[in-house]
Amino acid sequence: MLEAYAVVIGGGAAGSVAAYKLAKQGKHVILMEKGLSFRSSNFSRLSGFMGCETKFQREKGITIASKLNLYNYLTSWAKDQINPKLIRNLLEHNSEAADTLAEMGFTFSAYADWVGSDNREKYLDNMMWSPLHLINEYGSDRADILEDALKKVGVELLFGCEAKELMMENGCVTGVKAITKKGEPVNVKTSAVFIATGGFGNNKKMIQEQFPGAPLGNLGSKNNTGDGVKIAVDIGGILSPRMGMTCNEVCGASLKHREYLFDAEYRMDNDNLGFAVYGGMAVDSNGERFFNEELMATAPIATGSYPALSVGNMYVIMDGDYYDGCCDGGIYKYLNEPDWDFGSHMFVPVLDRAKAQFGQAEKEGWGFKADTLAEIADHFGLTNLQASVARYNDICKKGADRDFGKSAMFLTEIRQGSGYYAFEYSGSYWCTIGGVKSDADLHILNRNNEIIPGAFVGGNEMGSAFGSTYYDIAGTCAGLSISSGIIGANAIVSYLG
Ligand SMILES: Cc1cc2nc3c(=O)[nH]c(=O)nc-3n(C[C@H](O)[C@H](O)[C@H](O)COP(=O)(O)OP(=O)(O)OC[C@H]3O[C@@H](n4cnc5c(N)ncnc54)[C@H](O)[C@@H]3O)c2cc1C
Repeated sequence: MLEAYAVVIGGGAAGSVAAYKLAKQGKHVILMEKGLSFRSSNFSRLSGFMGCETKFQREKGITIASKLNLYNYLTSWAKDQINPKLIRNLLEHNSEAADTLAEMGFTFSAYADWVGSDNREKYLDNMMWSPLHLINEYGSDRADILEDALKKVGVELLFGCEAKELMMENGCVTGVKAITKKGEPVNVKTSAVFIATGGFGNNKKMIQEQFPGAPLGNLGSKNNTGDGVKIAVDIGGILSPRMGMTCNEVCGASLKHREYLFDAEYRMDNDNLGFAVYGGMAVDSNGERFFNEELMATAPIATGSYPALSVGNMYVIMDGDYYDGCCDGGIYKYLNEPDWDFGSHMFVPVLDRAKAQFGQAEKEGWGFKADTLAEIADHFGLTNLQASVARYNDICKKGADRDFGKSAMFLTEIRQGSGYYAFEYSGSYWCTIGGVKSDADLHILNRNNEIIPGAFVGGNEMGSAFGSTYYDIAGTCAGLSISSGIIGANAIVSYLG
């Protein structure tokens, strides 16, 4: 049997920071990672993390992203779904987490750098964008930096090693049982375990339990199957009642297409998925509008999958001019470059492959074009579509959405003459959020609200830091996750000495 001061389960955002911090203090840490390298985590794919009062922000002159401002923002967003003391603690340790990543070898850019704008007010003095630290190193570079840094401080890395359960004696953690890809058992004797397995995005059963009836596609790591939640429950840990997801912000999705829908360049593999996040007219399966579509265009990461949760698939309807405009010059130009942040720097500004890829959408059954709205309605069974379009056009003419309050910049009439297009979209997400309940130091709690000695949780599975609605500050998921690595390491040292 192997032996370690502490075991970290999961080598993503939270786990790698925790392991690094412990090893830097001379502790012997074993990090178990289910994947064969650090490429398998969602951390290797993310753009950036939320930070507050970091060295990088000081250098950039960013002051609005203070701990207190973020505390007020996050706690008023999530209200009773989270433990405010934990949020405070996570924010308190965020700058150390950012420093830790920098010490490992990562470098950062501000959102304004990426957009190429010196518009301070919009990007540097703005609560949504100024906390964001984009990580410049990506993909295998990121994984290599992580591996080198962790090896350098002496972390013992077990790749292809899947933690299955904790060993317990008298209610305290005494070890971890795991299994290799070849099915060989790996048992480690230890008194403290930091669980950070990234959520249950690829666990269909848990997704259906949490979001019953919703058509949802996973775009994150296949390894994130909710193992941490299961391991915690098995030792008597309790779960938060509300879990959520970080939605796909790049495009829509269709389960008739496929789940992981990005190509090698990290672009959606069919441009016709893009219309979901343009704020154009969307209807439910009755052919009726059901929400303010602007949310998909302005806060897709926080709200992109929510239509799927309440109405199932949604259908985006447009005329041929609109379709051509998005394919030829892009939606932002088509709407005459309005005051729309996300529109001015979209991931895929022009859908120039959409026309060539339309045949695939049609064949798979999620795209359809026709000369009349009646044909569109008939094809997808959208009974009230024609009446809804007539009402929508009247709203567009008046420039005021009396039904759902959509801004005038997204109100474009659906006109006769150039044909019609419709796309059926499901929801999709990068990862799930929420899960295991803990105290403010990330000790896992049991049914009596008592800590389970030696068991700690971090990352996306923190049930006391994430509720059912993702925060609308860019990078919150990763920002809170890296902070949890610092808190988890500190709590382990306080427990074990
Ligand atoms: C494409 C994409 C883009 C994203 N962009 C952003 C962004 O820009 N900003 C942001 O804040 N968030 C973003 N996210 C979310 C972000 O990646 C996560 O919030 C973050 O990585 C969570 O950290 P974590 O440590 O909890 O999980 P992860 O980073 O996913 O790490 C979990 C690790 O645990 C491993 N594991 C799972 N089960 C076991 C087991 N039983 N035993 C051992 N190991 C196991 C997994 O293989 C994985 O490596 C994005 C996600 C995706 C998929």
